[in-house]
Amino acid sequence: MTRNIAIIGGGIVGATAAYYLSRQGHQVTVFDEGTGQATSAAAGIICPWLSKRRNKKWYRLASEGAAFYKRLCEDLATDGGDSSFYKVSGAILLKKTPKATKEQYELGLKRREDAPEMGDLKILSQEELIALLPSIQTQENALFVSGGARLDGGAMVAELLAQVVKNGGTLSKVWIDLNETFLKQYDAVILATGAWLPQILEPLGYRVDIRGQKGQLVVLQTDDVDNGDLPVIMPEGEIDVLPIGNGKVFVGATHENDKGYDITVEPDIVNHLIEQGEALFTRLQGAQTIEVKVGTRAYTSDFSPFFGYVPGQPHLLVASGLGSSGLTTGPLIGYQLARLAAGQEATLPLEDYLPNHYIVLRK
Ligand SMILES: Cc1cc2nc3c(=O)[nH]c(=O)nc-3n(C[C@H](O)[C@H](O)[C@H](O)COP(=O)(O)OP(=O)(O)OC[C@H]3O[C@@H](n4cnc5c(N)ncnc54)[C@H](O)[C@@H]3O)c2cc1C
Repeated sequence: MTRNIAIIGGGIVGATAAYYLSRQGHQVTVFDEGTGQATSAAAGIICPWLSKRRNKKWYRLASEGAAFYKRLCEDLATDGGDSSFYKVSGAILLKKTPKATKEQYELGLKRREDAPEMGDLKILSQEELIALLPSIQTQENALFVSGGARLDGGAMVAELLAQVVKNGGTLSKVWIDLNETFLKQYDAVILATGAWLPQILEPLGYRVDIRGQKGQLVVLQTDDVDNGDLPVIMPEGEIDVLPIGNGKVFVGATHENDKGYDITVEPDIVNHLIEQGEALFTRLQGAQTIEVKVGTRAYTSDFSPFFGYVPGQPHLLVASGLGSSGLTTGPLIGYQLARLAAGQEATLPLEDYLPNHYIVLRK
């Protein structure tokens, strides 16, 4: 039976949910105001397998989330869509000591048993590193992961939402204030509002454990127009460097906890990002800054994402708290929400990611 479903938020979670629901023939409306959206500001590294986070539930989400991209790209191809926003380019992790590199390598070998999409793992000599990335300047130890991928979040949501429209869905660029009248118009409502979940649930009397974190990222234009096949570079510390094709390189991103929902571009911080990028990757010296992206990530107090039903609301679904790995986990979470909104079972254990810990009714 066709359902009438509203999705509030058109970042990676909302756009993926909308795509899968519209694909099944459901009537979908996506409301997305868009200011500060994390997805379209994001750098886009998909390489969760060597993370040292010990949270097993998060790791399952991230690892299965990375694997889900294959399915998403295949589904888009079947629908005549374009999945060039995603590319398996390989990733290079830089570590300060040979011991740390070896530990990561061994962790990777173990995790690869359940995650073949990780591909080949190789500790690179300085010569091998320079052969792969001639402009790199580092004495650090390098570990290459062939399955690492990069993603253009903005291009991805644009493609998914174009498919939604093709499937008969509607997009509306407005801010929604949630109330009972709005909820009654739909068979199900999905809140994919990222860092703005506290604001949208406030009128219904809920307190939400989510805070915003500012992220700034610089897009530089180099003359290396063939850089689309280069691997992404992940040094220890804040910045990553992502050559993304046509000479463009993303450098970022900051993690500014004290700035919350502020989305102003700060020249000092941007210059610092550029300096760090240039020092690591000499190809960036003299490159032109063509854009600075600023977005707001959503964090819970224990850094875990959640999704499922809003407590006490059988037709109101939610996901948030995706933090700095939301491009990795977001499509799989959006897919789970689509299944639930369509009356199907989730493919992940809902009890591991319950919203109840983070969303409570105010007394
Ligand atoms: C600079 C930066 C770099 C990042 N790099 C990576 C990375 O390398 N790898 C990775 O895995 N992740 C990365 N992330 C994290 C990732 O981008 C986010 O976790 C993910 O995009 C969150 O997706 P979302 O759909 O939950 O929220 P969002 O993308 O923020 O989307 C939420 C949308 O809801 C809209 N909205 C909210 N409330 C309302 C309302 N009431 N009415 C209408 N619209 C509303 C907002 O305007 C917004 O457009 C990065 C994030 C940033 C900011």
